[in-house]
Amino acid sequence: MNRRMVGSLAEQGNRLSRVIGQAGGAVEGPTLVVVGALHGNELAGVKAAKRVLAHLEETSAEIRGKIIALIGNLSAMRRGTRFVQSDLNRLWSADRVHTLSTAPDATVTVPEEIELRDLARTLAEIARDSSGPFALVDLHTSSADSPPFVAVGDDPLADRVVARTGVIEVKGTSRYLQGMLVEHASRTGWSAMAFEAGRHEDEISIACHEAMVWQLLLELGMVDQEIVPDEAAACTVMQSGPDQVSRIVEIVYRHALSDHDSFRMNPGYENFQTVTEGEILGQDRHGDVLAPLSGRVFLPLYQNQGDEGFFIVRDVGE
Ligand SMILES: [Zn+2]
Repeated sequence: MNRRMVGSLAEQGNRLSRVIGQAGGAVEGPTLVVVGALHGNELAGVKAAKRVLAHLEETSAEIRGKIIALIGNLSAMRRGTRFVQSDLNRLWSADRVHTLSTAPDATVTVPEEIELRDLARTLAEIARDSSGPFALVDLHTSSADSPPFVAVGDDPLADRVVARTGVIEVKGTSRYLQGMLVEHASRTGWSAMAFEAGRHEDEISIACHEAMVWQLLLELGMVDQEIVPDEAAACTVMQSGPDQVSRIVEIVYRHALSDHDSFRMNPGYENFQTVTEGEILGQDRHGDVLAPLSGRVFLPLYQNQGDEGFFIVRDVGE
């Protein structure tokens, strides 16, 4: 058996295990792809997708169109880490996707490049074999406590889901976070959004992801309200007090990290917590790391792997 055949057999095996499950397809309609564990240590989205698919099967609900759930980074998920060698949610530039899609099997050896190529092919196959419109939601969790939020460039479906659920919408991700999976999906004709449900280990994160998938199925007209379980009501976290996050915020600063920064975020920061310019947020090998401007700290890093120590966002309004 030559090397090329071994490679393609391995990829076929990968593709089978990448698919968590699917439902529908008998009746023409939209195609919704749910991606979990694009970061391998974020399992809430995978569990939520399984719950939704199980409920659809139990109720034998009629589905207009098709829902397919995929695992994002298989090799990192098997290790229980965010990634193996590089962050799979920072690699989806048009150039890289094209290069990897056309490269000979044997030349692609970085684990995340193998993942990217296989996931890109899987999405292309789904688009080829299914009917539109096409929608993709990429489910994430974070290392700090956080209210749920949608991160998106500009997408009408995402805007409608945000309005429907009342979760926070973070604008400006395409400017500050290049190479996200949703960027690739948008570029190739999908309605795409990333959804962060809360902290990695929190049970509520799973319920929140589940609720978001149901809301998308409803918004796309794929299922009837009657079959949606009660507990999958809109996932909003009630905010109170003077420090309410406005419904729409925008990224204004990204604290990029290199391998040698040894950055450590000071403990206790929650996502969207208010910070003032000059506040000491953490330390790196040069000393204290200060907030360069006032706003809200966004995605403070409390895990070993990550390309950003934190972001700053500002309230935009309702
Ligand atoms: Zn993530």
